[in-house]
Amino acid sequence: MKNGLGFSHLTLHNYRLWTLSGKELPMTYVVTEHCEKCKYTDCAEVCPVEAFHEGPEILYINPATCIDCNLCVAECPVEAIFADHEVPKKYARYTQLNADECEKYPTIAEKKDALPGALTLAQWKERDKATG
Ligand code: SF4
Ligand code: SF4
Repeated sequence: MKNGLGFSHLTLHNYRLWTLSGKELPMTYVVTEHCEKCKYTDCAEVCPVEAFHEGPEILYINPATCIDCNLCVAECPVEAIFADHEVPKKYARYTQLNADECEKYPTIAEKKDALPGALTLAQWKERDKATG
């Protein structure tokens, strides 16, 4: 979140992110592992700027489009979305993955059914416990 000076304490963090075309990206939100096969897309429906892109098995947030409004986080039924400074260590690679992969797929703004095999939050929590 931004402080009174208009900068986030994450400013340095921001410069870690690059698109495939070499463009610098600002702070963003990140879709992580729990999204796999979900695609319930409750998140995409509330995004005011169409920042979500639909990959084959998960969604990606375009960091160049995301305005950090935080709306999507509470909508995700499997807790897959994090602000980039809150991404759990084990999902660290997803920050760059979102930035890279979003450019390959079209945006999505409407809700649709999940893919077969999508896990519930309870099932993800069981799996997380088992895998650490
Ligand atoms: S609601 Fe969560 S799990 Fe479902 S598509 Fe959006 S980010 Fe992925
Ligand atoms: S934080 Fe806001 S702008 Fe960014 S992806 Fe989520 S809903 Fe869209």
